[in-house]
Amino acid sequence: MNKLIVGNWKMFPTLADSQVLAASLKRGLDDLKGVDVVLAPPLPWLVNVKEIWPHKVSHISLAAQNIWPEDQGAFTGEVSAYLLKDIIRYAIVGHSERRRYNQEDNDLIGQKIQACLKWRITPIVCVGEKKRVLFADGTVDSTQWRLLEEELMEALEGISKDVLEKIVVAYEPVWAVGNNNPAKPEYAVKLIERLRVRVAEKYGQTGAQALRFLYGGSVDVAEATDYLRYPDIAGLLVGTASVKAKNFLDICRQASHFH
Ligand code: PEP
Repeated sequence: MNKLIVGNWKMFPTLADSQVLAASLKRGLDDLKGVDVVLAPPLPWLVNVKEIWPHKVSHISLAAQNIWPEDQGAFTGEVSAYLLKDIIRYAIVGHSERRRYNQEDNDLIGQKIQACLKWRITPIVCVGEKKRVLFADGTVDSTQWRLLEEELMEALEGISKDVLEKIVVAYEPVWAVGNNNPAKPEYAVKLIERLRVRVAEKYGQTGAQALRFLYGGSVDVAEATDYLRYPDIAGLLVGTASVKAKNFLDICRQASHFH
């Protein structure tokens, strides 16, 4: 299976910046085989970015950085999965920045996942501990671990085993997001393994294997391959580096070697 590289442009590029960035990415990505790429521009620029790809290119898709779970209604300032369903194939839900600044909890995130699935949008569910879980001497911070596994298992509440393949989990330690301090690949893969074991307890081995885990947190060109070489890491969620066309293209090229 191709690795999945998601670019979260956050609230960085203006409309003009987004169009220039998308056009540069188009030149580098259209003929790149062996990797699936998802771009998540700021919400108001989604349609403008989509116009850069007037014809469908199967390995390049758009994502919303967030969605609202209701389909339609008096929810000023929100945009639903239903309203976006013809524009996006993926939606990021539960990003740590939304948990922090918008007080999103596991229950709301669970509802967002259900809304995505209802409209055939693949949710990219972000989970991550605020402080380190594992230490070099083998000890585990049990409080941080419990909060982390709760984020995942509560997000999956009500999800049946056969739906797990339609969900992507982005493991993003909060302490590693947006600060040039990535978690070591060995650390990330250990946490992903632990989370998968937890999923297997509920869904069995086949269910747990169907769930794709990405790593996210300060990944740039220099370290991308160090994560991608692990079969258990299905791809990367890239934030800050994703708005630099050259860097993001380089990461996508690295990922294409692992298909
Ligand atoms: C993100 O926004 O999900 C992210 C991983 O950001 P950064 O790469 O900047 O840490």
